[in-house]
Amino acid sequence: MLKYDDSLLYGGTMMIKRILSLCLCLILLLSGCSYTQEPDKQSISFFAMDTYMEFTAYGEDAEPTLMSAREKIADLELLWSVTGENSDVYAVNHADGQAIEVAYETADILKFALDMSERTNGALDLTVYPILSAWGFTKEENRIPSKDEIKGLLSFVGYENVMLNGNTVQLEEGMMLDLGAVGKGYAGDIAAGILRENGITSALLNLGGNVQTVGSRPDGSDWRIGLQDPNGEGKIGVIEVSDLAAVTSGAYERFFIGDDGNRYGHIIDPSTGYPVENGLLSITVIAHDGKLCDALSTSLFVMGLDKSVEYWRQNQDFDMILISDSNDIYLTGGISERFTLDSDRSNMKVYVISE
Ligand code: ADP
Ligand code: MG
Repeated sequence: MLKYDDSLLYGGTMMIKRILSLCLCLILLLSGCSYTQEPDKQSISFFAMDTYMEFTAYGEDAEPTLMSAREKIADLELLWSVTGENSDVYAVNHADGQAIEVAYETADILKFALDMSERTNGALDLTVYPILSAWGFTKEENRIPSKDEIKGLLSFVGYENVMLNGNTVQLEEGMMLDLGAVGKGYAGDIAAGILRENGITSALLNLGGNVQTVGSRPDGSDWRIGLQDPNGEGKIGVIEVSDLAAVTSGAYERFFIGDDGNRYGHIIDPSTGYPVENGLLSITVIAHDGKLCDALSTSLFVMGLDKSVEYWRQNQDFDMILISDSNDIYLTGGISERFTLDSDRSNMKVYVISE
């Protein structure tokens, strides 16, 4: 079954130890397909933005275009790295309250993210970095901070205190930005744009689980994207899409078990400073715009099932698939006809969210 799927979606930034298994998994997926009959298929794979990426495009001259897309991703990574000392984000985070001029793309993604923070009532907040750091997610040295420590650090969290004027960014002293929740989605849009501008009409870009499709498969059929089981290995079903992005967030790829025996994931509720724990295991957002998918997958995961449904009813500019820890799947109408549950998952209940 797996071998007929073009790609596999999963949530959370991949840890390095996972890369090998994913590489193998993707290789298996691709080698299982009848791609030998598709003469103009070009693929590149590389490591960027902390994850393994694989770009596939069809067309005689696709390879140089794929390389340009890869170079653009590398440029964005240089701008947005939290740790790279020459990045825009590093400069802003270490400016001691001074205003810093940033590149157009940095200002643009910030403008988008700040707007999404407002729309999601602060569930998306790119200033949670000090909290993320206290939980040890930035260095993979996890620990449980004390309540007082979290309370103290929350005073440095607040998207409304990010001052963005044109291409100038200014934070209050002690605040720090991190574009982890939206960067790959934005990068995927730009990469897809480069491909489209160069006449490519069929491509599949996998940016570490953020999947961006350009057009359909060369034979005109939809791309088949496997939805990973957040409870374990394997997948629960397949979505079939063309010209859309699909992005998953969850706490099952990057988490740790604390000394107290509880599980703590890498998505933080900015209103409490604690990792999200609301009964959702993963959420996949499907829309044309990759950055919208990325911003929403993170923020709807923070909001939980009921508020996500409310948000979707009010906006309806995307589709979503939510998986709960009681093995239930909730999906919106637009994607329900494009989703097939694997036959060995008949124990999972599927609910279609009404308008
Ligand atoms: P992925 O790890 O696949 O990029 P997400 O897009 O959901 O998954 O982004 C999660 C990352 O976003 C975290 O690793 C962290 O850097 C950052 N983050 C965590 N919680 C929030 C939040 N509430 N708002 C914005 N960014 C967050
Ligand atoms: Mg995201």
